[in-house]
Amino acid sequence: MNGRDEGAVACAATPVVQLPSVDRMLRLPTVIPLIERHGRTFVTEEVRGLLAAYREGMLRAEATGPHSEAALLAALRTRIEARLAPAIRPVFNLTGTVLHTNLGRALLPDEAIAVLVASMRAPVNLEFDLDTGGRGDRDALVEALICELTGAEAATVVNNNAAAVLLSVAALCARREVIVSRGELVEIGGAFRMPDVMKVAGAKLVEVGTTNRTHPRDYADAIGARTALVMKVHASNYAITGFTSAVAEDELAHLAHERGIPFAIDLGSGSLVDLSAYGLPREPTPRQALQAGADIVTFSGDKLLGGPQAGLIVGKAEWVRRIRKHPLKRALRVSKLTLAALEATLALYRHPEQLAKRLPTLRLLTRPVQEIETLAQRVAPAMARALGAAFAVTVGAVQSQIGSGSLPVELLASAGLFIRCRADGRSSGRRLAGLARALRALPMPVLGRVADDALVLDLRTLTDEPTFVAQLRHLTLDRGPS
Ligand SMILES: *Cc1c(COP(=O)(O)O)cnc(C)c1O
Repeated sequence: MNGRDEGAVACAATPVVQLPSVDRMLRLPTVIPLIERHGRTFVTEEVRGLLAAYREGMLRAEATGPHSEAALLAALRTRIEARLAPAIRPVFNLTGTVLHTNLGRALLPDEAIAVLVASMRAPVNLEFDLDTGGRGDRDALVEALICELTGAEAATVVNNNAAAVLLSVAALCARREVIVSRGELVEIGGAFRMPDVMKVAGAKLVEVGTTNRTHPRDYADAIGARTALVMKVHASNYAITGFTSAVAEDELAHLAHERGIPFAIDLGSGSLVDLSAYGLPREPTPRQALQAGADIVTFSGDKLLGGPQAGLIVGKAEWVRRIRKHPLKRALRVSKLTLAALEATLALYRHPEQLAKRLPTLRLLTRPVQEIETLAQRVAPAMARALGAAFAVTVGAVQSQIGSGSLPVELLASAGLFIRCRADGRSSGRRLAGLARALRALPMPVLGRVADDALVLDLRTLTDEPTFVAQLRHLTLDRGPS
């Protein structure tokens, strides 16, 4: 936000007056408290910026200039507030995508938040062995727990799963070949594309099979003297259906091992528990991948696992040791904050019976549709009141997505608010866009999605109903051209 926006604040119909000097403004009795609160340096800069913005507007005859002292002061306050507001803000994610990458994915369990805060306030034994008094290893803080939950021999943690794949390939296949099926060369949003990761890691990608079908002999034929790794990538954000064929993991593991080559699986999401036990679509677990014979399995910490952003690398001790020793590991390692939150999140998996209550991701994914619908019925009248006569608010069935590339074709029955323009016509799209903008401008921005001539708010992920309803009184719909 810059000064020009606030120029509009003072656009009352009073005549143009002379702008005060910076000094004069700083001496105003109403400005003194601002200086006491925010310091002279900051307020002086803001006054200077404000006056410059006015001057600019006046010179270019965009605004009629400043008016009363009160208007100037109001503009100054608005400007200071905007400057001090944190850039990162909590929002209501009512988009229907539970694990929304652009909105920070998993919400941490209270247990993780508590240890996170504690580890921020005090020094921790991050790389310090409290038994021997000697140097410790940060991986050791979570390795045993990860192994317990996945059945792996060893584990290491990096910044995210993209880093886990990059590091694994760099450590195991530099200047050598990695074999991947053409049906699995995925792009996970923007810059993470499997072929590019291989290149950056210094490995040569050997593509086998076709987009829809890859057979054991495709892999067998491709394995040669320069092959360092056979890799399977979980199709996390797309599905190939119809006339398809892929080689099963255990078969591929067998094939690779026969030729003395390690086998890796990038699971992407990698739920640590069988989600079908919670009534959700099944997703392969790291334990199953390892049981099928994978030597290395990589997955995210903040997708279905429900923890902080992290990339977990699990598998055979021999390979994990090599990965951990690679110089990139130092560049991709995680902080004490990540490890604290990760350990606490993982610990919840020791009590699978309570997981759906304590892990927010699972709690949201398993929220009963009746509960969501009742909630929708409760908040709909408040929304209708806030919007006035121009919009109609109805409760209807929607389908939530898990998100973050997890289970892309599986949708969860949910309920939400459908907001439509009453007066139909060509301006409906523009008015819905205006409404979406107004919802985003609320103290805690509300994010939905526009579909079928309606703004849809999926309430599966609405947990703070009081705040949501209370802030609706701040909703200001701009009355654009109608
Ligand atoms: C999400 C995903 C990644 C990237 O994981 P980040 O934690 O987002 O870095 C890599 N591979 C697969 C298959 C994925 O689904």
